[in-house]
Amino acid sequence: MKIICVGRNYADHAKELKNDLPTTPVLFMKPKSAILLPGKPFLYPEFTDDLHYECELVIRICKNGKYVQARQAHNYYDSMTVGIDFTARDIQREQQKKGLPWEIAKAFDGSAVVGDFIPSPAGGISGDIQFRLDKNGETVQVGITSQMIFSVDKIIEYASQFFTLNIGDLIFTGTPAGVGPVVTTDVLEGYLGDKKLLDVAIR
Ligand code: MG
Repeated sequence: MKIICVGRNYADHAKELKNDLPTTPVLFMKPKSAILLPGKPFLYPEFTDDLHYECELVIRICKNGKYVQARQAHNYYDSMTVGIDFTARDIQREQQKKGLPWEIAKAFDGSAVVGDFIPSPAGGISGDIQFRLDKNGETVQVGITSQMIFSVDKIIEYASQFFTLNIGDLIFTGTPAGVGPVVTTDVLEGYLGDKKLLDVAIR
């Protein structure tokens, strides 16, 4: 399986990182080894001094596909959750400055935290699905799917031109504004609507 991630998919987040708004989805990948196993703490890596959380809606692919049209895309996923795209912001900035790839900043072990999956709406994700991240009991990020620059179905259409979608693949659909650093002892909790689906301690 693979993890396809979308960068800069919310205008307010692109702005907070001083990036231009994209005209096509910004895609990058994480390997399977990036997934943090459920119930495990996240161990703060030694190679960064500026680890950031990015809370995102995550969908799971349920059907293999290539060149999927946006209007058919809802048939290709059946579940969703909240996840965290952990990012070594200091390394990412250095890489960006040099025009180099992001993987060492975003695709390292444990960088893809995934909550418990629940069924996604049968007709696909449209309208206002709200998700949020609490850090130590305080809400730090709130996302609403209608504010995505590229909808889930558009992301699937775009990504499947390049990458065959396989059952079990995950798509991290981008983070809203409010990203920030974590320190050891922090506890992060992710919610979809009022349902808590993710709980991770930083050690
Ligand atoms: Mg992200």
